[in-house]
Amino acid sequence: MKPIVRFAPSPTGFLHVGGARTAIFNWLIARKLHGKFLLRIEDTDRQRSTEESIRQILEGLNWLGLNWDDDIVFQSARNDRHKEVVEDLLANDHAYRCFCTPEELESKRLYAEQHKINKRYDGTCRKLSREQISEFLERKMPFSVRFKIEEQKTEFTDLIHGRHQTDLTDMDDFIIQRSDGTPVYQMAVVVDDHDMGVNLVLRGDDHLSNTPKQILLYKALGWSIPQFGHLPLILGKDKTRLSKRHGATSVQEFRNNGILPEALFNFLCLLGWNPGQEQEKMSREEIIDLFEVNRINHTPAVFDEQKLAWLNSRYMVEMPFDQLLFHAEKWCKDNQYSLRPDEEERFMFYLKIIQVRSKTLTDLYDFLKIYFDSPQIYDEKGVQKYFKKEGVSELLKKLRGTLSSLDDLHFDAIDKLDGLIRQFAAEHNLAAAKVIHPLRLALTGRTESPGIFELMHILHKDKVISRIDSAVDYINNL
Ligand code: GLU
Repeated sequence: MKPIVRFAPSPTGFLHVGGARTAIFNWLIARKLHGKFLLRIEDTDRQRSTEESIRQILEGLNWLGLNWDDDIVFQSARNDRHKEVVEDLLANDHAYRCFCTPEELESKRLYAEQHKINKRYDGTCRKLSREQISEFLERKMPFSVRFKIEEQKTEFTDLIHGRHQTDLTDMDDFIIQRSDGTPVYQMAVVVDDHDMGVNLVLRGDDHLSNTPKQILLYKALGWSIPQFGHLPLILGKDKTRLSKRHGATSVQEFRNNGILPEALFNFLCLLGWNPGQEQEKMSREEIIDLFEVNRINHTPAVFDEQKLAWLNSRYMVEMPFDQLLFHAEKWCKDNQYSLRPDEEERFMFYLKIIQVRSKTLTDLYDFLKIYFDSPQIYDEKGVQKYFKKEGVSELLKKLRGTLSSLDDLHFDAIDKLDGLIRQFAAEHNLAAAKVIHPLRLALTGRTESPGIFELMHILHKDKVISRIDSAVDYINNL
C-alpha cells in the first residue's frame, strides 16, 4: 500500500527543527514509496494561531524543499464536518452529552482528591435518561460531548516503539466537543486523517499518549486505523529537551545564520535515523534511497550544533559553482549591488577564493561586502597594531603614489603585484609584512582576508586607491 502521510503543524510559532524533522521523515517515506505527503494546518486554536506563523511554516518547508501534494487542508475550515462526526458518535451511543458545569466538575475533582478516590469523571451524564436530555436541551443548557469508554485496555504496535498497551480503567470519558461546539484535537485529528486518506501517522513522541484515544475513536467510527510511529524527542547537548536556551531552534534562525537548506535537511535526517553507513554527507536522492522507518532510533537524538556547522562547511566548500553564483547573485540583487561588465571575470575569481573560506552563507556574504563596500569601520585591534604606528600614514601615502602611477593592466597580474609590494617594502627597509598588514586593514577593514595580492587584483586599481585614501584620512584623524 502506498503511504499517505501528513505533516500537521499548529501555526502558533516558528517552524521548530523538531517539527521540520517530522516533516522531513514523512516526506522521505512518501517520496521513497511514491505515496503522498499532505499538509494540514491545525489552526483550530484561534487565539494562538497566526497568519505569520502559517507564512513561516510554509516558507520553512519550501526552503527545505519539502513539497507537499494536494491542497493544504486548514483544520478550522472543517468544523461542520467534525460536528457531523460527533453527531454520528452520539447517534450510535459511542458518545454522550455532558451537562455538568465546570464548577460541578471542579468540586467533584476536589472531593475525590480529599477522599483519595479515583479522580476520573464519575459518569453522571452517562446515566441521563432520554427525557432528561431532551429537557436539558430545551432549557438550552450548555453541554460538552464525551466519548464513552467501554473497553478496559487498548493496544497498538508503534512502528518505532513497538507494542504499546494502555490501561483504560483510569481514563476519563474524554471530551470530544467543547461546550462552544468546537472539536478537541483528538476528534479533529481523527476525522481529518481519515478524510484525507492518511494511512501512516508519523509524529513526535509528545503525541504518544494521544494515540490510544484516537484509536478508540477510529474503532467507534468503524474506520480503518492508520499505522502509527512516534519520533523520539530532540535533546540539547545537556540532554534536556531542545529549547531556546540551547540557541537557534527554528528553521528560520538557521537560515538567517547562513546555514544551507541542503545541510540542514541532511543534518535533521541524521537526528534519530541511522543510514546504516559511515558516510554522513548525503544528497537528497541518496537519503530517499536509503531511508527506512525501521532504522529510526527509539531513543532521543541529541542536537549537535558543531556537527551541523561542520556539515554546512562541507556543503559550502563542495557546492557546484553555478549554485555558488546563484547565492551570490541573489545577495547582490537583494542588496542592490551590481557589477560592471569589466568586473565580472575578477568577481568570479573572487567567488572561488572566498568559497573555500566560507563556512556559512553569512561568511560568503560578508566576503562579498568586502568587494562592494569600502570599510566603514576598521577592526579595533588592527587599528592599535597597524594604524597607530609612527609613519604608517606616510607609508600608505607613498604606496598610493606608486600604485597610482601603474597602468590598469598591472593589476591584472597577481605576481606583478606581489613583486611590487615586496620591492616597495625593501626600498623602505621594511619586511613585506609591515606593508601588507596595514594595507590589508586599509582595503578590507579586517586583519584577516583572502590573499592580499589576489585582493588587490580583484578590487583593481580604482578601489585599491580610493580605499587607501580613506584609510589615510582615518589614520590622520586618529
Ligand atoms: N498539530 C499537532 C502539533 O503541532 C500535531 C498533530 C499530529 O501530528 O497528530 O503538535
